[in-house]
Amino acid sequence: MTIDVRAVAVFCGSRMGVKPVYQQAAQETGKELAQAGIRLVYGGGANGLMGVVAHAVIQAGGSVTGVIPEFLKTREKMNEDVSELIVTKSMHERKQIMFARADAFWVLPGGFGTFEELLEILTWKQLKRHDKPIVLINVDGWGDKVVAMLNEAVQQGFASTEARSLLTVVPNAAAALECSRIAESAEALGVDVM
Ligand code: AMP
Repeated sequence: MTIDVRAVAVFCGSRMGVKPVYQQAAQETGKELAQAGIRLVYGGGANGLMGVVAHAVIQAGGSVTGVIPEFLKTREKMNEDVSELIVTKSMHERKQIMFARADAFWVLPGGFGTFEELLEILTWKQLKRHDKPIVLINVDGWGDKVVAMLNEAVQQGFASTEARSLLTVVPNAAAALECSRIAESAEALGVDVM
């Protein structure tokens, strides 16, 4: 069973990164989502690229669901401007809600938290817990080393070529949109991710 993509979870940095092009890409991503009528699901913070994406969606008249754990409300500066704000008890609950609410996952530049989120959603897909599109937006070569690490795992016999194909790498948000048009829902697979 296939469904249209109505909401995309974006994983990205809670910091801005050093290159202005990262912020530009985050802005472009937010605008692209809003114009396509797709809801943004994200970590709920106002800081860094996360804040930039959410702000861009709101500015362009789109809808945003922020999902933030209680203990990060201050550290990641909870974004009060979003259309829907969900405060969770734990990181696990945050991830589960973000997973359930999203039809596809996009990854923009970020740090350790972003890597963790990407690898987790990718391994869930590898374990056939879902079949939703996962797209890495490779802004200015930011993702090259991430992709190299995944390729190396395949070359060294620790992952299958098929598993590597579960992540799509694109240069920008417009291309990410093209790859995410149709998703198979986790419900359709009848599985529970955790
Ligand atoms: P970062 O890329 O480190 O700036 O983190 C981006 C987002 O990932 C932030 O919303 C963090 O709260 C979140 N994050 C940080 N560490 C983890 C983790 N271990 N698991 C899941 N998310 C995380």
